[in-house]
Amino acid sequence: MQVDPVAITLVRGDITRQAVDVIVNAANSSLLGGGGVDGAIHRAGGPAILDACRVLRAGHYGRGLPTGAAVATTAGRLTADWVIHTVGPVWSPTEDRSDLLVSCYRESLRVADELGARTVAFPATSTGVYRWPIDDGARIAIETVRNAKTAVAEARFVLFDERAYAAFAAEL
Ligand code: ADP
Repeated sequence: MQVDPVAITLVRGDITRQAVDVIVNAANSSLLGGGGVDGAIHRAGGPAILDACRVLRAGHYGRGLPTGAAVATTAGRLTADWVIHTVGPVWSPTEDRSDLLVSCYRESLRVADELGARTVAFPATSTGVYRWPIDDGARIAIETVRNAKTAVAEARFVLFDERAYAAFAAEL
């Protein structure tokens, strides 16, 4: 299969406002909502997303979504078609968990490919409540997406603040 390289774009703003096929959520393992980008997505998308997450918890993900994994649900009222939930690792100063953060981006793109998505918006997973240093989070995000084999045409990183935007811009 011949695939064109994915175009990586950067936007400063709110991920819930993006007109894309897929919005990726930096979820937690419970899938039942949290703060940060997770809270914003559930607020903007409405209760259909949480309903779909509850169905996942009642089925295949009874013990929650493992760190580094990704799963799709409806996007509810968002303009996107799907939300892909992925669970980033909590930053540890003593243990290298980079492979799990790499896995978040890879698995999200794999699920996006299964859905036939062409445009995907990503947040800077793990760099908020989970405290991953933004420069390293940006490096892992850009490197992983750049090297991924995917039919996705555009991967758009949506950065909430100037510092995160600058870190991603420097890496790109
Ligand atoms: P995690 O628990 O994986 O660290 P957070 O949601 O706490 O997830 O933070 C991940 C990143 O998302 C942070 O850089 C944070 O500033 C950013 N963020 C928070 N709200 C939004 C939003 N509405 N759109 C885009 N990014 C957001």
